[in-house]
Amino acid sequence: MSIQITTRLSGPVLVTGGNGYIASWLIKRLLELGVDVHATVRDTRDPTRTAHLRAAARGRPGTLSLFDADLMDAGGFDRAMAGCHLVFHTASPLIVRDVADPVRDLVQPATRGTRHVLEAVNRTPSVRRVVLTSSVVAIYGDAADLEGMEADRFDESHWNSTSNAHHQPYAYSKTVAERLAWEMAGGQDRWDLVAMNPGLVLGPGLSRHTNAESVLIMRDFGNGYYRFGAPELEFAIVDVRDVAESHLRAGLIPEAEGRHILVSETLSLMDIASILRDHFGDGYPFPRQTVSRVVALMLAPRRRIPQAVARRNIGYPLRFDNRYAREALGMTFRPAAESIVDHFRQLLDDDLVPRARRNSGDARRRLQ
Ligand code: NAP
Repeated sequence: MSIQITTRLSGPVLVTGGNGYIASWLIKRLLELGVDVHATVRDTRDPTRTAHLRAAARGRPGTLSLFDADLMDAGGFDRAMAGCHLVFHTASPLIVRDVADPVRDLVQPATRGTRHVLEAVNRTPSVRRVVLTSSVVAIYGDAADLEGMEADRFDESHWNSTSNAHHQPYAYSKTVAERLAWEMAGGQDRWDLVAMNPGLVLGPGLSRHTNAESVLIMRDFGNGYYRFGAPELEFAIVDVRDVAESHLRAGLIPEAEGRHILVSETLSLMDIASILRDHFGDGYPFPRQTVSRVVALMLAPRRRIPQAVARRNIGYPLRFDNRYAREALGMTFRPAAESIVDHFRQLLDDDLVPRARRNSGDARRRLQ
């Protein structure tokens, strides 16, 4: 199947949450292609959030303009959106651990932010397409959801129906935000909506200053969080560079439509640990054993994992059908091992995880 990607855009494109882990790669790709980018961030004066974007723009054929905008500000996106044909809405709070107030910190910014961005789209006559960064968690809430379903894996027809503001609030925030986006897209016929539904995004970031959940998960492997064993939990992994590329294609392929599961492979925590150990050696506190379900459930509160989340995810397989993104966007997803190794190496290079005290070094490099 031949897929046509057109970069003949007659104006800039907008990326919300431009300094984020995923958005930064997307902006870099757009600038490389000669596309002029308007990016919103919460504070354009904070160099720790913007220096990597300015660096990515240097010497590229596309130009970068930064704008201040907060999701909670109803009129905040109009100036940045003026003249844009294409809007990538990536900004949304991604907090999974220790959410103080799920409604205030997740659901409201995700939904109000989506409403504010799409209301600005409705006021901006040049916009023809919106690419929304949703998530696989708008497709399923807990791995246990797959039990009792006719299908043996999740696909784009499925919607998360088990999360709420108190159980999996981040998943709930993504679900209600994506539903709202489809509803608003259906209320007009000037612009179309294309949704991206990535799994757990891993791979190197462009900025050192990120608390993105993806980075925190990889740091757990280096800081000994799983030293005494890992629960039987599976993650649907996709590389950050492939997520950026998928967004780009969703924006630039005229026929792109609908939702897209962006997942390369599903791996357990122990699979991830094996990949890390094979590559980086034995000197890191990577888990060596799976903790039984009974013990994992007992330990969950100490690890600040709510009991209900532990009960409905530990020990359940997780499966996704990524066929649509491969066929409609022409995507080939990197093997998860590449994302994991590249990501952990970056954490070591940036001193974000302690280096091994013994057997240090890169096992594969040692063998060569
Ligand atoms: P990230 O680096 O934390 O990016 C989140 C972005 O949203 C940041 O730019 C952040 O700005 C912005 N944001 C949060 N609250 C905001 C507010 N009130 N006003 C304006 N901007 C706000 O994480 P990411 O992984 O790149 O996430 C980007 C998108 O991908 C999100 O929609 C997320 O739900 C989705 N996603 C991520 C994953 C994953 O595994 N990482 C998987 C599936 C979907 P600040 O830097 O100022 O906080």
